[in-house]
Amino acid sequence: MQQLVMFDIPGFKELIKSPKRIIITTHANPDADALGSSLGLYHLLQELGHEVRVITPTAYPQFLNWMPGQEDVTIYEKDIQGADDIINQAEIIFCLDFSSLNRIKKMESIVRSSDASKVLIDHHLDPEDFADFSLWDTGAAATAELIYDLILMLDMKDKITKDMAEVIYAGIMTDTGSFKHPSTTAKVHRTVAQLIDKGADVNKVNRSIYDTNSTNRLRFMGYAFLEKLVVRPELEVAYFVISAEEYKRFELKSGDTEGLVNYALSIDGIVMATIIIEYQEEVKLSFRSTGDYAVNSFASEHFSGGGHKNASGGISHIGLQKTVKKFEGLIETFTKSYLFAPNPV
Ligand code: 5GP
Ligand code: MN
Repeated sequence: MQQLVMFDIPGFKELIKSPKRIIITTHANPDADALGSSLGLYHLLQELGHEVRVITPTAYPQFLNWMPGQEDVTIYEKDIQGADDIINQAEIIFCLDFSSLNRIKKMESIVRSSDASKVLIDHHLDPEDFADFSLWDTGAAATAELIYDLILMLDMKDKITKDMAEVIYAGIMTDTGSFKHPSTTAKVHRTVAQLIDKGADVNKVNRSIYDTNSTNRLRFMGYAFLEKLVVRPELEVAYFVISAEEYKRFELKSGDTEGLVNYALSIDGIVMATIIIEYQEEVKLSFRSTGDYAVNSFASEHFSGGGHKNASGGISHIGLQKTVKKFEGLIETFTKSYLFAPNPV
């Protein structure tokens, strides 16, 4: 069911009426929606005369390097002291595309304890109650769609530039899986039509995001399909496990494994797919499912995670081998335990 909290628009207008020192942040390992919605808002707030900084907890993938404004982004883990100084002076902190503060990793404590007004704009389930203003809609296809809605609520459509239109378009395009996930409503199409009217070059955005593979990435994908894909047709589950050694061997970078899990889900008869990746500090799991199989419940119950019903993620700190063992145990009953059909048969 869609859950929606709308802004107190008059209060919000008052908040941004005079120039303020503003931080925009988003979740670790930012994707196109995280960075696109952040930069869309960044350009708007700059146009309105605010002093704005975008701070991401960790680096974003190279395929987002085309986004106008990304050159001004501060990456928290690369300059913690410098970023803390800026955050300490902030009057407003926007939190985009995440619903609980642990998703900003090492930034969590300074943001949590900051006196700045906090504004949450997000479309994930179960938001933590930390914000002074919330624009939260689980029915939204992307946080970028909510940024567009916000611009309309503020009567500022005339402020949308080509740059803003393109970064917002990128967020909506990627979070809807190029307009094919169930979240792709008529409103989504109306929104992107208006972004195209504002000058968004959809071919440029598509090519910049999807057609900028490195050779290493393609070779890695080939290896993953051939050697690493585990298919359990009887359980309707398929998954990949990627070790830190493999990550290093193929010289992978942030973003290079993105999308792989969707191929596992594309196998006929598979309803749940996972990719498990061993990083230095933690093991990260990405889950995808179809229909009423809810991977967000699976992620939150077993892997300290969450997300959307059909796309979620989690983490594990027990090492790769034990994580895989735990996962392999859990999938034995996945289809029985995580089917939340509206009308059970
Ligand atoms: P991805 O698999 O693309 O990294 O993430 C898919 C979705 O899962 C994201 O949109 C996000 O909502 C959610 N997600 C991924 N990792 C985590 C996590 O560690 N914790 C929570 N709560 N959600 C996550
Ligand atoms: Mn999103």
